[in-house]
Amino acid sequence: MKTLLSLTLTTAFILSASFVALANDAAKTVSPDDALSKLQEGNRRFSTSRKSEGKPTATRRTETAQSQHPFAIIVGCADSRTSPELVFDQNIGDLFVIRTAGNLVDDYALGSIEYAVEHLGSRLVVVLGHERCGAVKAASQTATAPGHINALVRDIQPAIQAAKEKGGDSLDVAIDANARLVADKIRKESNLGELAKSVRVISAVYDLDTGVVSFAK
Ligand SMILES: [Zn+2]
Repeated sequence: MKTLLSLTLTTAFILSASFVALANDAAKTVSPDDALSKLQEGNRRFSTSRKSEGKPTATRRTETAQSQHPFAIIVGCADSRTSPELVFDQNIGDLFVIRTAGNLVDDYALGSIEYAVEHLGSRLVVVLGHERCGAVKAASQTATAPGHINALVRDIQPAIQAAKEKGGDSLDVAIDANARLVADKIRKESNLGELAKSVRVISAVYDLDTGVVSFAK
């Protein structure tokens, strides 16, 4: 009987603890619209060189040392000029960032997105392409390449094709198309279950000259 009571109490404690954890997580979840506004405001600060609010501080480091609730997931290019934390003027713990050349996603990236949505409460995914992207440029010149670069130029071909059909400045169009196609892939292939309804995936392109990020409509 004593064991049963202790078991019941333990179960009740675990249940209430999980409920509190859930409630805390829910409170920390930022809606896609609010997350987008935060990114737009941060990019405005960055591109107009206003005072940064994103500088890491010891306080912020302490606050986030035990847990994280990044308000957005950024799938960006590995290009050294496009760090999302800088471009969006955000701090430690604000963004969950995945970067590959050409801002492509594979199983590791999709798994990372699913993890951030399910366990960290992120509800906005931004695929961030950028002006003069070397990976997209390479893919526009060749469909095959040595080593693992082959996977990059191969997987950017649909964007090159889309740009050819659309016309205009082909590299700019291909960069935009690539970000949109990667966003489509995330929408189709990420396994978010019921949470998919509350998650928004959008594409955007970063202008290296002005520092401005333009989000797809
Ligand atoms: Zn790039």
